[in-house]
Amino acid sequence: MKPYEVLLKDNKAWAEKKLKEDPDFFDRLLHVQTPEFLWIGCSDSRVPPDQITQTEPGEIFIHRNVANLVVNTDVNLLSVLDFAVNHLKVKHVVVCGHYGCGGIKAAMSKTDFKPVLNMWLRNVKDVYRLHRKELDALKDENKKLDRLVELNIKEQMMNLVKTSIIQRAWKQKQRPDLHGWVYDLHDGLINPIMEIKPGDHIDDIYEFDDL
Ligand SMILES: [Zn+2]
Repeated sequence: MKPYEVLLKDNKAWAEKKLKEDPDFFDRLLHVQTPEFLWIGCSDSRVPPDQITQTEPGEIFIHRNVANLVVNTDVNLLSVLDFAVNHLKVKHVVVCGHYGCGGIKAAMSKTDFKPVLNMWLRNVKDVYRLHRKELDALKDENKKLDRLVELNIKEQMMNLVKTSIIQRAWKQKQRPDLHGWVYDLHDGLINPIMEIKPGDHIDDIYEFDDL
């Protein structure tokens, strides 16, 4: 059996198991999608959002990219955010990074990864520059990497607040709460590192007053 055929075989087994446990499982999901959470995470195959949070289909709306970035020209991310906030009406947005992130590590190096990876990783290099003093003081490369992982999560949360999508939802609906989490590959645990609530302020220059 070819590797991709194993995926199809396992899918069949999963669907049968689900039906056996709960005969209405697929019927219920067919008609309504009301997830409470939007998850913005890293594409890393070792950090599957639903598995590490033990959530079922229908519970989390998911966007993943290399190094869990929120880039203000990324039509993909912004479409997901807009849809999740304004149509699915999610109450929480989670930005979840992970220690040992390969994308962050790549951005810390001086390697030329060629376009388009260079373009993408530049966003992480900018985070490094913003926090250079703190990061340069860390001599252990792994500690430096893991601290940049945390700082990157915080910056991406700030990037969410900079969008009119979040600011408008905060003003009109008092949601969503923003959560910054970091997943540890060593023990499988998620550690919360930052929370931003509706109405919290970041730098004044980013705040729209005519929403
Ligand atoms: Zn990663």
